[in-house]
Amino acid sequence: MGKLSVSPALVLRHVDYRDADRVVTLFTRDLGRISGLARGVRRSTKRFGGRLDLFTLAEVQFREGRGLYHLESATLLSAHLGIRADLLRISWAAHLSELTQKLCAEEQPHPRAFQVLARAMAFLSDAREVDEGALRGAELALLMDAGYSPELDACVVCRRPVGGGGRFHFVVTRGGCVCDRCMPGPSGIPVAEEVCTRLSEAARAWPDETKVLGLDEVSLRQAREILDAFVGYHVGGRMKSARMLQDLLSSPGR
Ligand SMILES: [Zn+2]
Repeated sequence: MGKLSVSPALVLRHVDYRDADRVVTLFTRDLGRISGLARGVRRSTKRFGGRLDLFTLAEVQFREGRGLYHLESATLLSAHLGIRADLLRISWAAHLSELTQKLCAEEQPHPRAFQVLARAMAFLSDAREVDEGALRGAELALLMDAGYSPELDACVVCRRPVGGGGRFHFVVTRGGCVCDRCMPGPSGIPVAEEVCTRLSEAARAWPDETKVLGLDEVSLRQAREILDAFVGYHVGGRMKSARMLQDLLSSPGR
């Protein structure tokens, strides 16, 4: 029998397997992302109940197996029930979960990313309003933890600080902001100083603090464009969840 481990874990994804089983992708605090087989989870509620539902935080016992881990038991820490009643909250939770899966390789611990995601799920479940700015901060914090840090504080070419005058564009192929002196002519995404500084501050504050950015609709759209472009360029592949979230966020009357 393989070694038994216990760790707090967030449920990122699951896929039904055979008649009664399920393969569950977990983001564990101590071992990073793992995939485990939960036997009989769809036939009986005795062993796992709803404790391996999507976006749930549970203390999970798992044993090494061949290829997949075997999930032995789970103790509920938080069901994050507030997420389930609202499509926007579900879309955000799915988006951050999918991003985590893409950024974090299997069995590589990312304790900070774990804390960011756990706090983001709690925020999505409990907050009265789904503040997009705060969640963009979480998205950037996850990227930064994985080593993808867009330059938002200064021009990547001449180091002129953002906020020190002049206009800036975010150019994903250059890795961040470029000032108008270094890049004459329109290219990239035009960004306001406030968007760059607040986003950068918010990302650094996670997971200790959930900063509500208080950005207006235009600024939020800029933050969204920056991060969508950056994620698309670096993480690659299609983010299934990004499309749904984008549609929801840009739909009128939201
Ligand atoms: Zn410059």
